[in-house]
Amino acid sequence: MRLSSAFLQRYPHQLSGGEKQCVGIARALATSPKFIVCDEVVSALDVSVQAYVLNVLADLRDRLSVAYLFISHDLSVIAHIADRVAVMFRGAIVEEGPVDAVLRPPWHPYTEALLSAIPGLERGAGVQRIRLRGDAVEQGAQGRGCRFQHRCPRKLGAICETETPPVLQAGPGHTIACHIPIQARAA
Ligand code: SF4
Repeated sequence: MRLSSAFLQRYPHQLSGGEKQCVGIARALATSPKFIVCDEVVSALDVSVQAYVLNVLADLRDRLSVAYLFISHDLSVIAHIADRVAVMFRGAIVEEGPVDAVLRPPWHPYTEALLSAIPGLERGAGVQRIRLRGDAVEQGAQGRGCRFQHRCPRKLGAICETETPPVLQAGPGHTIACHIPIQARAA
């Protein structure tokens, strides 16, 4: 993790946030795992420290042949490190595919909104900031239709309230769960 041996003598309160994350990752790597779950591993860090930790993780991935499952609310972090991405809304995958495909249209409406919130992320021309209505936490239990229906800016109508969205093939290895036909989306 690019920490010198001097860190062996330090206590946690003597480490910065980024250094603590590096120690935590080093501890996870100590058993030579083939697979590590990285749950919001850089979310508490400054952007510059985030980039440092992500670069170290990418380097270790290539040198040690270790695989990561990255969990993040920040798609720019995922774009930086992932090969494949699954976008989840309220516990279900709504879009999945190679990261390059998911970052470009066609998108699930939720992916589109997430991407629109990231300043500076290349996502094609003409994409405006999308503010979702309502609050996901307040929607409560929902039995039928699309689980994104209460917040979707592209909701079609009754079909979204009554029928579970089909999983559509948007490209090689790229799927979108939505009633909007792939051909009708931005290309
Ligand atoms: S199925 Fe309907 S509500 Fe759900 S994401 Fe697609 S358009 Fe929006």
